[in-house]
Amino acid sequence: MLNAMTIDVEDYFQVAALFSAVKYEDWDKWPSRVENNTLRILDLFDEFKTKGTFFILGWVAERHPSLVKKIVERGHEIASHGYSHQLIYTQTPKVFREETARSKSILEDITGIQIKGYRAASYSVTTDSLWAIETLIELGFTWDSSIFPIHHDRYGIPASPDLPYTIRSESGSIVEFPLTTAKVAGQSIPAAGGGYFRQYPYFLSKWLFSRASGQGTRPMIFYLHPWEIDPDQPRVKNISAFSRFRHYTNLSRCESRLKQMLTDFSFCTVGQVLDQTDFSNEIKLEDLKNNA
Ligand SMILES: [Zn+2]
Repeated sequence: MLNAMTIDVEDYFQVAALFSAVKYEDWDKWPSRVENNTLRILDLFDEFKTKGTFFILGWVAERHPSLVKKIVERGHEIASHGYSHQLIYTQTPKVFREETARSKSILEDITGIQIKGYRAASYSVTTDSLWAIETLIELGFTWDSSIFPIHHDRYGIPASPDLPYTIRSESGSIVEFPLTTAKVAGQSIPAAGGGYFRQYPYFLSKWLFSRASGQGTRPMIFYLHPWEIDPDQPRVKNISAFSRFRHYTNLSRCESRLKQMLTDFSFCTVGQVLDQTDFSNEIKLEDLKNNA
């Protein structure tokens, strides 16, 4: 069973954990490291003969169009990570629609390829922002990977399905590929990558991912950010101890763990996984809200 390998292409200063200390207006003042870090990931994927899906922030794509082209040339899939990395439930539907359409056309103009997939900043499609799903359908996206079926302070729809499913709304339908969770003692434990992957010892990540996938019988999705393999990134000051923990824990261990992950599991793009996945389990948008 193939799993989806995904990279959220954004810079170290753009993440939600650092919002309080780094203003959107100041992003251009920070030294950019996203291009070099993403190129290192591309080399790593070549080494392990792995293809993945790269969710690219519109803000980054505008400043690094050659990077976007390189990702496509090296055989990977491109999807949208929005434009400004603002949490959807803090945006108005109007602003969300404008910036999502903008991010889609930036990527389409650079690559000449129709963009079908979307992932929200910090998985911020929650019951407060499910209207965003309707907007994604209207803008022509055919799949989304923004819903984390867990309890968390910033994201998650705990009662939502943990395997790919179809969301139907008045505007049409879209496939949702939820972020990987493993059931342990009746609890849903995040097993999808990112901060969890850096905080857990590797054997635990491996065990959870394998358990979530039913020992390789169900397709799962893994994610990482280019800045997570960059222990030398400039440190952002004036953040809480908790945010510091979330952002900086085990950056120096992440690349070797990723190599282990690429050795122990088989990965490809989201599009390739969905081509061989049954997502006929259909849920109405309003039921997703009501059951949560
Ligand atoms: Zn992100």
